[in-house]
Amino acid sequence: MKNISLRMLSVILAVLALAIAGVSVYFGSELLRENILGFLGTNTLPPQFQQQLTDILIAQGIITVATFLIVAIIIVIILERMVVKPLNLLSAVIQQFGSGLHADDIPEPKGAPHEIDHIFETFTTMAKHVEEARARDEEMSRIKSDFISTAAHQLRTPLTGIRWALEAMAQEPMEEGKKAVVADALEKNKQLIQIVRTLLDVSAIESGRYNYKFEPTSLPELIGTTIEQLQEHATRQQVTVRFTPPEYVPDVKADKERLRWVLINLIENAIRYTPPKGSVTISLEPARGRVFLYVHDTGIGIPDNERNNIFERFYRGKAAAKMQNGGNGLGLYIARNVVRDHGGDLDFKANEAGIGTTFFFSVPVAT
Ligand code: ADP
Repeated sequence: MKNISLRMLSVILAVLALAIAGVSVYFGSELLRENILGFLGTNTLPPQFQQQLTDILIAQGIITVATFLIVAIIIVIILERMVVKPLNLLSAVIQQFGSGLHADDIPEPKGAPHEIDHIFETFTTMAKHVEEARARDEEMSRIKSDFISTAAHQLRTPLTGIRWALEAMAQEPMEEGKKAVVADALEKNKQLIQIVRTLLDVSAIESGRYNYKFEPTSLPELIGTTIEQLQEHATRQQVTVRFTPPEYVPDVKADKERLRWVLINLIENAIRYTPPKGSVTISLEPARGRVFLYVHDTGIGIPDNERNNIFERFYRGKAAAKMQNGGNGLGLYIARNVVRDHGGDLDFKANEAGIGTTFFFSVPVAT
């Protein structure tokens, strides 16, 4: 009975009522016939009379059952029109609302009883509240995004000016102590410029201004050059980075630079959150018209209670924040958006051995 539809239930009940009516009419008629014949005495009655009595009782039974059948059909039709149809409409409306139907376009059920009308009204009011909340959310998000973009643009010009000044100073002859101070300031200035670039990326993603140039791209090549780029960082952290590509990997459809950015983020994180003597292993697996990429590390792992947050803007894990490694909590947020714009999704899982994490995503093969 668990998955039975209301329509089926009404038909079953009607058939059941009809069967009960048929059985009771049959036994009722039999009882009546026996009583009449018993009362009048079978021997004294001519056989024609007995036959006539049987015919009358059969006709009466057929008329009763037919009346029941008509009443049952009428009840099923009424239930269909007044309950089943409006409820099916409500279920379709709820589904469509989830995929973009506006609250103002929710239709009214025709001929439904008061209770179902009331459910529609309540749902429409709730849908309007949800739409208002969504609109407020989007507006807040737009304001935040505009603010980030304006602030980042304003910061970029003076920071670049400072960089030129520091680079000019670094060329001047000066004592070792001062040279180290200027080099340190230059390094911090570069980090700041990088943060500003990341903020500009975030606002470009959120406003849909991120322009992609998709082309056939070799993932083994991209991973190889990215590892080279990060090798110094890995050596400093005493982390071994491994990558053995499979014999054949088809080119994927990707924006090379954006995907490199994603790889740098994933591999850099894996190195950064892995203690010395640990390892980072990158692997590729072509399957079902896509290429799957895994970045597996033996690092600090991600606790379950942070699982839902780590792809959010500015979120940093507790253990990561303690490490004070200059992270800003934007890397995974941008990386996931870029991967999604490539037609995939970025996710992670805890390693089966219990130590470390594996981030993975897939991109479609270039056709
Ligand atoms: P950031 O690394 O700058 O803090 P990210 O957006 O790149 O920001 O990552 C968000 C958080 O996800 C990190 O603060 C960290 O808690 C967690 N994280 C990301 N990669 C790993 C990893 N390989 N191992 C453990 N934790 C990770």
